[in-house]
Amino acid sequence: MLDELLKNHTYTRLGGKADILVTPETFSEVQELVKLARRENIPFTLLGNGSNMIVKDGGIRGIVMSQKQFQDIRVESGTIFAQSGAAIIDVSRRALKERLTGLEFACGIPGTVGGALFMNAGAYGGEIKDVLEEAVVVDRDGTLLTLPAKDLDLEYRTSNIPDNGYIVLEAKFKLQPGKYQSIKAVMDDLTYKRESKQPLEYPSCGSVFKRPPGYFAGKLIQDSELQGKGIGGAEVSTKHAGFIVNKNNATATEYISVIELVQKTVKDKFGVFLEREVKIIGEDADAETVKAVKQN
Ligand SMILES: Cc1cc2nc3c(=O)[nH]c(=O)nc-3n(C[C@H](O)[C@H](O)[C@H](O)COP(=O)(O)OP(=O)(O)OC[C@H]3O[C@@H](n4cnc5c(N)ncnc54)[C@H](O)[C@@H]3O)c2cc1C
Repeated sequence: MLDELLKNHTYTRLGGKADILVTPETFSEVQELVKLARRENIPFTLLGNGSNMIVKDGGIRGIVMSQKQFQDIRVESGTIFAQSGAAIIDVSRRALKERLTGLEFACGIPGTVGGALFMNAGAYGGEIKDVLEEAVVVDRDGTLLTLPAKDLDLEYRTSNIPDNGYIVLEAKFKLQPGKYQSIKAVMDDLTYKRESKQPLEYPSCGSVFKRPPGYFAGKLIQDSELQGKGIGGAEVSTKHAGFIVNKNNATATEYISVIELVQKTVKDKFGVFLEREVKIIGEDADAETVKAVKQN
């Protein structure tokens, strides 16, 4: 698809146009795409569910690859194989169905398997590192590799996937046999915790800021009386101060302005700089383009 608006493809509902949005259907098509982009020197960007990145209103030049066709989840004797575009929430639900324990922590993380491996997603004491056995990836040369989890250097919310330019295509999760009722009880409890604390009724990118040493980002924002403050359609959540919600058709420009407002206010008031956890990608936009993104 040419000139495709990415706000229609991101969980945050933010983002200008991609020059070309490509949706490969096989792993070999991904290999060919990587080789083509490299040979022709075309910028290449990989999109998951867009729940941990903000795409600017100027959009993304070159090729953007969607993983929507890679949804397969299969189970073979206690092991789950999940393709990169599958929602990690669905993998966690499948584990419950199969009475396998270990992925309960992921039941409310709104990303894909690929995005979850990229940042070693985790919650409530669990992380991908605990359950990943192997990953099938394509490297910068377009070569398909099967790597043991240890080769991905999974650490707190990081991995070596970006440094190596790997595209994850499939993950193999090693889980343990468990009891349906106890797995479900943990998932219900974590879901209740999320629903009662997080503003899940609006698009967002989750916790915007990292925890600054010795402080809690949410508390600093709350104590700066920023909750409910907004610019255009974006505002600091009244439910969870660490979240900025896309409340009413915000543009990325508005959303990023709220991030900067929070950073400046907290720095002025408490002398603490809030470092972003979420990535910002893409090009800046002029006023006309921002207006067009908002209207579409
Ligand atoms: C309401 C809410 C709650 C959240 N809670 C949590 C939480 O509890 N814990 C947590 O860890 N995160 C949380 N997040 C953040 C986010 O959901 C996770 O980081 C998730 O893993 C991102 O996946 P994604 O598919 O959306 O990735 P995207 O945002 O689309 O992409 C993120 C990065 O991963 C790269 N990427 C995507 N797919 C691949 C692939 N196949 N191969 C290589 N690189 C790839 C992208 O290029 C990009 O650089 C939350 C977000 C929201 C909105």
